[in-house]
Amino acid sequence: MRETIVKYNDVTKSFGELEVLKGINLEIGAGEKAAVIGPSGSGKTTLGRMLMTLEEPTAGTIELDGELLWHRRDGDRLVRANEKHLHRMRNKVGMVFQHFNLFPHMTVLGNVTEAPRKVLKLSKAEAEERAVAMLVKVGLGDKLDVYPAQLSGGQKQRVAIARALVMKPKVMVFDEVTSALDPELVGEVLEVIWEIAEEGEMAMLLITHEMEFAREIADRVIFGADGLIVEQGPPEQIFGSPESERLQQFLKRFR
Ligand code: ADP
Repeated sequence: MRETIVKYNDVTKSFGELEVLKGINLEIGAGEKAAVIGPSGSGKTTLGRMLMTLEEPTAGTIELDGELLWHRRDGDRLVRANEKHLHRMRNKVGMVFQHFNLFPHMTVLGNVTEAPRKVLKLSKAEAEERAVAMLVKVGLGDKLDVYPAQLSGGQKQRVAIARALVMKPKVMVFDEVTSALDPELVGEVLEVIWEIAEEGEMAMLLITHEMEFAREIADRVIFGADGLIVEQGPPEQIFGSPESERLQQFLKRFR
């Protein structure tokens, strides 16, 4: 049994009247690759954004790397964590979004060195050394001095992946990272994610509509709908013999 890196304990999340997550219990093991699938609007992004501390649970707790993410313990009581704690915890997670969110006024190298310099306080030379290694890994070693506007969507997304990886997170959240790409650019991005997954060290939460990809890369597939985890299991079970009516209906759309 591997060590648990992420644990959602009865997490709910509402936006005003809308209850988006209705009691999520989910554990992800260190190094585990978990794919999250499900209809639009079922709360998948919100689940990922909470790990990145971009959304706060309405109720319930999240543990990350053995510590509470949004709270801290004060004796027997749970109290809200302060900014310093959140900041430290946030650095354990890397997130890549559907839209690349690169800094347009910075070069590729500038985009990837920004956080190591500002957050980790690395020297320029150290940050650049790390950043170049990551950019080579994602196949962009020849684009260091180029600005985002000069890159294709697939290249931009690979920069975004390098920018998250350079912080050496324990967990990577990939949120629909190929949804905004032209179909011919999807493959190059999935290939990079595949290579990172093969290295095995990091846990990954892959929110995706790419069912083939989920089937190949994931140790476990989690099907969420209407704010709940409806079914989860190894890819061959989820795709090969789905139990719930809801999942069976959902998968028909991809046949
Ligand atoms: P999914 O990723 O499964 O498509 P999301 O987590 O993006 O689902 O969204 C779930 C629901 O929550 C949607 O109805 C969405 O409109 C709503 N929602 C997400 N973020 C916010 C927000 N910041 N404010 C209000 N509603 C939100």
